[in-house]
Amino acid sequence: MSAAIKISDAEKQVNEFLERTHQLFIGGKWVTAASAETIDVENPSTGQFLTRIAAGNAVDIDRAVASARNAFTSGPWQKMPASQRSLLLYRLADAIESNFEAIVLLESLDMGLPVTVGRHVDIPKAIEWLRYYAGWANKISGETPLASSGVTGFSFTLREPIGVAGLITPWNAVFLMAVNKIAPALAAGCTCVLKPAELAPMTALFLGDLIAQVGFPEGVVNIVTGLGPVAGQALVDHPGVNKISFTGSTRVGKSILQSAAGNLKRVTLELGGKSPIVVFADADLEKAAKAISGELFFKTGQYCAAGTRLFVHTKVFDPLVEKIVTRARTLKIGPSALSDSEMGPIISQKQLDRVMGYIDGARAQGATVVTGGGRIAREGYFVEATVLTNTRADMSVRQDEIFGPVICVDRFEDGDDLDKIASRANDSIYGLAAKIWTRDLGTAHQMARKLHTGSVIVNGGGGESPLPFGGVKMSGMGRENGLEGVLSYTELKSVAMGF
Ligand code: NAP
Ligand code: MG
Repeated sequence: MSAAIKISDAEKQVNEFLERTHQLFIGGKWVTAASAETIDVENPSTGQFLTRIAAGNAVDIDRAVASARNAFTSGPWQKMPASQRSLLLYRLADAIESNFEAIVLLESLDMGLPVTVGRHVDIPKAIEWLRYYAGWANKISGETPLASSGVTGFSFTLREPIGVAGLITPWNAVFLMAVNKIAPALAAGCTCVLKPAELAPMTALFLGDLIAQVGFPEGVVNIVTGLGPVAGQALVDHPGVNKISFTGSTRVGKSILQSAAGNLKRVTLELGGKSPIVVFADADLEKAAKAISGELFFKTGQYCAAGTRLFVHTKVFDPLVEKIVTRARTLKIGPSALSDSEMGPIISQKQLDRVMGYIDGARAQGATVVTGGGRIAREGYFVEATVLTNTRADMSVRQDEIFGPVICVDRFEDGDDLDKIASRANDSIYGLAAKIWTRDLGTAHQMARKLHTGSVIVNGGGGESPLPFGGVKMSGMGRENGLEGVLSYTELKSVAMGF
């Protein structure tokens, strides 16, 4: 490479950031962790070392919680008018916009998110949601029930911030998830401690710089990197934390619920999924095929709401599968930092082995691999987009969340009624999202009610709307997004006054 090659400003910024000694963001400053231990972070597109982060422990969590508590009970945050809180959140959105390309690039190097996805989905969404929550900061209100405002008294409710929130996030949407937890917590007036995932923590740390820049009071946001069972567990156990908002696996979510019982912390859990897609014979097949294949490779299948169990009316089964397979075969799979990569790597060797284990297991049990099914021989952790048929409902590939680009396609028959179809779609311990493709309004409405999930998406709807999001069954507890998401960081107080 010649010295004349110009590195873009964003690349330069990211390289400088990665070369830093990464510390913990506590009390508005970068501070040294209690232990000298570090955790190596790698680039999943190459499998190479990227940088190292501090391994925060219980001592660090204790410091961070004390700092968040102090900011909550005394100092400028607690006295700040809601409109000023709102302004700070708007400023943070502006700061993200000013650093847009650097965040896109950093996310691609750290978690393997293709830059096109970062540019068009994750980072614009983070900005949009931040502004959405900024708007709520000065609009949170209680109620004055008419019946209680009689001649002998006056009663009303107050929405008060819950206190110190512990925010624990996964590696598959690092920046978006960090913003999506911090923003409603701050809009509600809480202070917080964020513990990002060890596998991909870098954009969450980058956010620390922006939070310091825009002038949030010290201690309002604290960021502690470290291992889940150490730093994460210490946060969940800490008696000074009033609420835990967790996004991650169902296994860890269940253990968090138990640990949080110590001081009856409020808990929001956004967990795994095994979402069904039902395609009826009258569906717009072009649109459905495009969306379903898009779901298959979006984030290399590493997202909670991915539609992974596809049920297709027998009449349109062959043409739909053919369209999905054609798309999967032309997919550009490659390093996430390249602009033409449509699908990037799996996050780690361990996850890749896990995904391959499910594909090989299904094959051994008689499933047909229509396309894909193999790991890609190159550096990094790449796997092909995989379409399976001839799977049975009791196979683990149909029951477990795989978190890889694997879809199981099954059919239903002409005479099957909606209850029968819904019961097959509902045959899962999870209940996060379900997708329906039909042009018949009656079918869409009836199916939406019959499916046991937190969300139902009809004909690829969605996009802008700040609808609440969350799961039923083993997919979680509570809702994020929308007003529900903000209110989940508040406690309701009833005030009854007599005259
Ligand atoms: P995970 O293993 O459950 O980890 C999630 C976070 O919890 C990480 O920060 C992890 O730390 C931490 N953690 C681990 N053990 C802990 C403990 N004992 N106490 C407190 N924190 C602990 O999940 P993941 O593998 O990162 O993410 C994939 C999962 O997230 C999938 O199941 C996916 O469905 C789910 N997800 C759900 C949603 C949703 O909205 N429903 C969205 C995205 C992802 P370390 O990683 O640093 O150890
Ligand atoms: Mg990484």
